[in-house]
Amino acid sequence: MTAQNFKKTFRSGSIIFKEGEPGTAAYIIEKGMVEIAALQRGERRVMALLTEGEIFGEMALIDDGLRSATAIAVQDTEVLVINREYVRDRLDGTDPLLKLFLHVILKRLRELDTDDRHSQKEHKSDSERRRDRQQAWDSRDYVLTQLRFQQDLLNAFERREFRPYYQAIVSLQTGEIAGLEVLIRWNHPVRGLVSPDEFIGVMEETGLIVPIGLWIFEEACRALLRFQESLPHGRKEPPLYMSINTSSRQFLDQNFIGRIGSVVYDSGVDPRHVVVEITERVLMQDPDRAAIALDKLKELGLRVAVDDFGTGYSSLNYLHRFPIDVLKVDRSFVSSMLLNRKSQGIVRALTELAEINQMEVIAEGIDHRDQINLLQDYGCRYGQGFLFTRPMSEAQMSPLLKAGTHWHELIARSVLLQAEP
Ligand code: C2E
Ligand code: CA
Ligand code: CA
Repeated sequence: MTAQNFKKTFRSGSIIFKEGEPGTAAYIIEKGMVEIAALQRGERRVMALLTEGEIFGEMALIDDGLRSATAIAVQDTEVLVINREYVRDRLDGTDPLLKLFLHVILKRLRELDTDDRHSQKEHKSDSERRRDRQQAWDSRDYVLTQLRFQQDLLNAFERREFRPYYQAIVSLQTGEIAGLEVLIRWNHPVRGLVSPDEFIGVMEETGLIVPIGLWIFEEACRALLRFQESLPHGRKEPPLYMSINTSSRQFLDQNFIGRIGSVVYDSGVDPRHVVVEITERVLMQDPDRAAIALDKLKELGLRVAVDDFGTGYSSLNYLHRFPIDVLKVDRSFVSSMLLNRKSQGIVRALTELAEINQMEVIAEGIDHRDQINLLQDYGCRYGQGFLFTRPMSEAQMSPLLKAGTHWHELIARSVLLQAEP
């Protein structure tokens, strides 16, 4: 419980809340007894007598309605007060379908014998009621659209329409392709390749990202073995690695890390050649839990990268608390570096910070040669961006690895090629 929740005592006979008031809190009875009563056909009717451990006042918190009954302490009563903000935070984070169910159930409960009661409607103006109805429809529409989209995505998954694409991560020192980042694509039968920006959000909200994320791990690990095989003269050092995105929703799944472990081990790749990309959000939402999750990833022998670094809210002081191997400096800083001295300063500072913490740095979103010179000056050793390669299929990436393609050639090639999205 947060500090927002606290205990309160009501003397016998005092009113805890009144029918018709807006609800600001729910209550759990710790000691004592509470009577819940409402007006029906002009008469006061006792609806319940509640004792220790029972909860009341929760309805108005969930649906923003007015109190449909009055609560009175009939003995000296101690309650735990659960504030609106506390409930709001949790409701906002909950599955939209569950939220819709909750609202429908509450609406039905409220409609039960409200005919002659001191009805909510009397308290609201026409425009307020219209607004409420519109909001209810909007949220219903949103949930239904999402449900349909979720179904489309599920069908697409079953029809094997998702594809792993790969983008090169290049060593700015040796010019070699040091690793690959796997990026999901939806090969839509009508629309062609669809960018993850259009569907990852819904996959996260609906939880679909959990099975699909695991499938990406499987595909990427198997592909890594094939890519490693195809390296010139069996290049073993430095080992080619695979970087795989995860979202915070995946970390909420209790079994996620265990399953990743099994997938990686079953595939036969060396776990040290797999980098799990996490977002700052995972670190900041619940740092203690994140630290445990990262420790588990490390125990499995996997490496950990923080993606889009600099865009979240993570305090730099936090970094040393976590076992992080790689910082990926967000594209927004790298792409504005040539025009903006401030971005240069940020990239330089992040590179130095990573070095102090013994982490590797990857500059994301390199799309201009001059950025490479600056990054090399700062000591940034790895880069990724459209200047080298766009994300591409395994069939397109394989020959580049086989030929040991250096970044000068990658640049020349990507300038020539009208590559896919
Ligand atoms: P991200 O992890 O930051 O991936 C990098 C994105 O930047 C990719 O977009 C890539 O195509 C794009 N990019 C790379 N170089 C450049 C450049 O030079 N200029 C520009 N303008 N863009 C560049 P993409 O593939 O559309 O992916 C978008 C996001 O979707 C990813 O951002 C990642 O957060 C998410 N995502 C992709 N695949 C997966 C996945 O398998 N699992 C999860 N959880 N998220 C994924
Ligand atoms: Ca990424
Ligand atoms: Ca990124």
